[in-house]
Amino acid sequence: MKQANRCEAGTLFVVATPIGNLGDLSPRALETLKTVDLVAAEDTRHSGALLSHFGIRKKRVSLHSHNEAAQSEQLLARLLAGESVALVSDAGTPLISDPGFPLIRAAREHGVRVVPIPGPSAVIAALSVAGLPSERFAFEGFLPAKRAARRQKLEALAGEPRTLAFYESPHRITEMMSDLADVLGGDRQVFLGRELTKLHEQAFAGTAQAALEWLGADDHHRKGEFVVIIEGAPAAKASHSDEDLLLKTLLEYLSVKDASHAAARILGGSRKALYNRLLALKP
Ligand code: SAM
Repeated sequence: MKQANRCEAGTLFVVATPIGNLGDLSPRALETLKTVDLVAAEDTRHSGALLSHFGIRKKRVSLHSHNEAAQSEQLLARLLAGESVALVSDAGTPLISDPGFPLIRAAREHGVRVVPIPGPSAVIAALSVAGLPSERFAFEGFLPAKRAARRQKLEALAGEPRTLAFYESPHRITEMMSDLADVLGGDRQVFLGRELTKLHEQAFAGTAQAALEWLGADDHHRKGEFVVIIEGAPAAKASHSDEDLLLKTLLEYLSVKDASHAAARILGGSRKALYNRLLALKP
């Protein structure tokens, strides 16, 4: 079968690079970096160190948040002229809380082939080991740096039933966890992935309140890079009196038997038990 990663002129490769452990650079990523004409890097010096570790000497241009618009235009012109480009960020997958979106959109709008070379991403690495539901999740990137905006954002997310995932810097991890425990409740289950894949990799799993205590217990616990995974909000449960009101209202229009069927559909749980409750509530 023809291999999909053959380097073709005019192709933009979006290449994931390690989030710490250089052993995580895939053979396909390595081959792509070796064969492209140009590497577009968030930080050319940082990516230069990665490339030279693997014995690759390659022309590099910078593409970061402050020059994205102008650089994307220039890179697009080079792609249209037939050069192949690998987009990399400092670590992990480009565009995941990293630059690259304007370039990919422009490339697609101009019919340039865009090819993913998948690999590490801190959020996926953390989710895969967090022990929290991961079939659906909401990735929120970095929370706002300012406290009022951060708390407002957390308040907006308080009822989100999906698992939440955030990136956080060591400077704000304690404040973030403190706001989180305050706004979402100290008993929410959280997972902290610190320095994943690196020498000092560490994980904490427990309640938000316990995470706050863990962060305060040792200076080392607050160092390095963090992914924070948070259990989603528990499904809203109607109070007993809300349920009684619903059952009484159903009884105004339906027989006990029909009301028990309707109540079971609305509230879930045992129809028999609801039938008995309806009987007791019947005037
Ligand atoms: N594009 C990257 C990715 O796919 O993971 C993320 C880039 S974002 C600018 C950098 C943030 O990712 C860090 O501040 C940290 O929150 C998280 N991160 C990156 N590497 C990590 C690691 N080894 N362990 C824990 N978190 C990490």
